[in-house]
Amino acid sequence: MIYLRISLDREMDGLAIERQREDCERLAEREGWTVVETYVDQSKSATDATKSRPDYDRMVADYQAGAFDAIVCWDLDRLTRQPRQMEDWVDAARFRGLQLKSVSGDVDLTNENGLLIAGIKIQVARAEVVRKSKRQSRAQEQRAMMGRAPKGMRPLGYATNGDVIEDEAVAVRAIFALFTRPDHPESLRSLARALSGTDTIEGLAPMPKHTHTVSVERETARRLRAEEENKTYQTHELKPDGPWSPSTVLGILRNPRYAGMSTYTPKTYQENGNRRRSWRAQILRDDVGEPVRGQWAPIVDDETWWRVQEILDDTERVTNTSGSTRRKHLGSGLYRCGVCGRKVTGAPRGYRCAGHVMRTGSHIDEFVTEVIAARLSRRDALARVSTAEDTPHARAISEAISRERARMMRAQRDYDAEVIEGRDLKRIRDAGESRIDELEAERLLRGRAGGLAPVLGTADPAAAFRQASLTTRREVIDTLAKITLLPQARGRRGFDPHSVVIEWRTN
Ligand SMILES: [Zn+2]
Repeated sequence: MIYLRISLDREMDGLAIERQREDCERLAEREGWTVVETYVDQSKSATDATKSRPDYDRMVADYQAGAFDAIVCWDLDRLTRQPRQMEDWVDAARFRGLQLKSVSGDVDLTNENGLLIAGIKIQVARAEVVRKSKRQSRAQEQRAMMGRAPKGMRPLGYATNGDVIEDEAVAVRAIFALFTRPDHPESLRSLARALSGTDTIEGLAPMPKHTHTVSVERETARRLRAEEENKTYQTHELKPDGPWSPSTVLGILRNPRYAGMSTYTPKTYQENGNRRRSWRAQILRDDVGEPVRGQWAPIVDDETWWRVQEILDDTERVTNTSGSTRRKHLGSGLYRCGVCGRKVTGAPRGYRCAGHVMRTGSHIDEFVTEVIAARLSRRDALARVSTAEDTPHARAISEAISRERARMMRAQRDYDAEVIEGRDLKRIRDAGESRIDELEAERLLRGRAGGLAPVLGTADPAAAFRQASLTTRREVIDTLAKITLLPQARGRRGFDPHSVVIEWRTN
């Protein structure tokens, strides 16, 4: 029941963890308390509710489980600076007999006077939180009006100060271009796959997930700063890089900053019953309604950006884009070249990738159709790609979105009633919004795959697939599998099934 926190804050890291520990142990001894557990967290700040403090959480859980009845910390700031958490401990002391003391003496919940002082501290801290959050949002809005780059996580393609990072900007431009390509535009899903390296799209190279890149940068910056100041640096463990998600790609396509428009989200917004504010609504406008221009260079032009928004808004059009062009071949722009991985094009009687693959089409298409049909007669295939709007899955998405919105509204009410702080509200809202983003991306994906419904909704999906339109068959194939054509073995006549590689998609 000793709680220690190694602080990375500049002003507080003079106090080494060992000294904290010794001081705390001495205090416990003086009080005649037996130390049953020591909790140590490494965190940037006790103020930031978004930073996880696993040992703090473990301590709370242990306390609730009755593992101890007293806590020693070095000072209150190290325990928590969140009024809500302080209040919990004060309640525990008042009603459940918890004893809590700090080495510095700034908190002592073992007597009535100490409880009174703690209560005052909570009020002061709460007022400060409200003031600070108001100040921050005013400053943020002013920054945005001047067209300065917003604070917070830098978007792909821009440095924190708004400078263009050219190699990332190349990827951003490619994402916009491929999504709006008139002939056979790429979907959110295929763009995410290309960025993750599980698929190949010409002009879009795989790259680490943006959040991963940013974590690495932040970690490096912290380490360099510590080295500069000759301080020991405790390395943070970074989450391993993972695949790009379609919702991240959606977030890129929706971001007005790429067209050089300044954005701002007020801390408290209540219009539309507090529904998620769209990216477009975040565009800051001047007195005459013109978007405020950022001081940074745009990466895509206005026209491209607005066209993307139109495509994204127009579900009908979204549903049709992937099959909008007339095709004669089942696999052109869908099957891949076994040599270079690019999509093959249709040749008069088959498929080709210049210099790599030249194959007759009919046998391949028959073979692929049979394999896919066989797969479709299995239940697990259906579960994954079931798409009709009234499916349990679609309903679950809508319900999950409503739940997130309700949670955000509750948080807003709690904030208005001063039950929670701005920081908690922000955390809840950020989590809610990013969850809604994911859910909406998923819904969009399923909307795009709407053509699958007539196939999968039937009693015999395999037969329905065989009879479906070319567009639908292509959609079904693309959803289920990646098809690669190997070059025809020299001197071989007839069709060799091993020359067509079918890999089932797992996501
Ligand atoms: Zn090739």
